Amino acid sequence: MNYYSLNGDTTKVNFREAVLNSIAPDKGLYFPEDISKLSPSIIKDITQLTKHELCYEAIKQFVGDCIPKEKLISIIQETLNFETPVKKVNNEISVLELFHGPTLAFKDVGARFMAKCLGYFLENSNKEITVLVATSGDTGGAVAHGFYKVKGIKVVILYPKGKVSNIQEKQLTTLGENIYAFEVEGDFDDCQNIVKQAFIDKEINKQFNLTSANSINVARWLPQMFYYLNALQQVDQSKETIFSVPSGNFGNICAGIMAQNIGIKINHFIAATNNNNVVTRFLDSNLYQPLKTIPTISNAMDVSDPSNFVRIQKIYSNYLNLKEHLTSYSFNDLETRNSVKSVFENDKYMMDPHGAVAFMGVKKYLEGKEITQTNNVFLETAHPVKFIEVVEDILNIKVKISTELQDLVKKDKKTIESSSNYLEFKNKLIDLIQL
Ligand SMILES: *Cc1c(COP(=O)(O)O)cnc(C)c1O
Repeated sequence: MNYYSLNGDTTKVNFREAVLNSIAPDKGLYFPEDISKLSPSIIKDITQLTKHELCYEAIKQFVGDCIPKEKLISIIQETLNFETPVKKVNNEISVLELFHGPTLAFKDVGARFMAKCLGYFLENSNKEITVLVATSGDTGGAVAHGFYKVKGIKVVILYPKGKVSNIQEKQLTTLGENIYAFEVEGDFDDCQNIVKQAFIDKEINKQFNLTSANSINVARWLPQMFYYLNALQQVDQSKETIFSVPSGNFGNICAGIMAQNIGIKINHFIAATNNNNVVTRFLDSNLYQPLKTIPTISNAMDVSDPSNFVRIQKIYSNYLNLKEHLTSYSFNDLETRNSVKSVFENDKYMMDPHGAVAFMGVKKYLEGKEITQTNNVFLETAHPVKFIEVVEDILNIKVKISTELQDLVKKDKKTIESSSNYLEFKNKLIDLIQL
């Protein structure tokens, strides 16, 4: 399979080149051409395969011959060596828990898969590359962890100063070795803009072999199909399934939509957003108008102009089609807090603020519908302890944290400070990498 640019450049690249380039020379996101459906026998009964076999069947066409079968299978096994269980929260709603990986958020799946693919591509070369990544909170830690000590790779993380949780910050600023963290005066969109500018800056792009580990990169984006597939193996097979996804940059939900696109039975998607709700407003009005980013307690979704939305529009191809498959609701912080509290009190289930936004999304969608006809699943994208300050404040209780996390929190952070000015960042990056 080849990839082309959504900005119109018709040059085709294979998976390896798409991963190494991250974005096309015309700044467009890569999109796969000629997507085929899974075989009818797999679609008919997805429980006949093991979870790793199903993931392999889903991803193989996107990787093509860039990674041999045995290697790809072992990458999948190493990526998914933790559980992604579906659990009942109450009689109507189930949760897909995606926080059992090493950095306690779903981004571990995409980051680990991408790190292992890049590791394979560089295995027998002397090439050195620099992974540049903007984070709204969880990507940074997952990428740092996934790429830690991978030979030939330096990782440069940009995060918005003061806008990530304590544990998120410590996960990305305390590893050292080949991991560097820039603390940027600004918000996530500023960080993302710096990264995008670096990619079109030929001088440093060439010199440092830049690649991105954000979900614009196909190796970060596509493996996120895995846990939708594995979730569907766990639910009542006689019913169709609805997924509510807490969305920021829309990479996660876009992977779910790709899983649907290759034939997996998914009834409907709900994109649950916080006050950064450009997509929610777009679906109401057909006007796409990004506003300034608003800080919220679900900070990993504080994104005002989500990169991956163009891919979703491509898959559904027109506005009406899009509206038929995708509903979006937006919730403010007060509603999020009330939701964390009421689910804890009524259902004895502790959610983090992102999961709470998704919970409200599925609940609202089900209002007035025959709820027993579908499996109603929301994605819990991070462990509540990652947002312990907020969760303890809402619930008015003390939440226990593991000794491992206690040790992490005690470590000193190491960062490079920068404004959101691209040239300032660039000069600091050059100093750093040339060391
Ligand atoms: C990144 C993140 C999201 C948003 O995912 P996108 O793919 O950017 O839409 C939601 N919840 C958590 C906890 C995250 O870290």
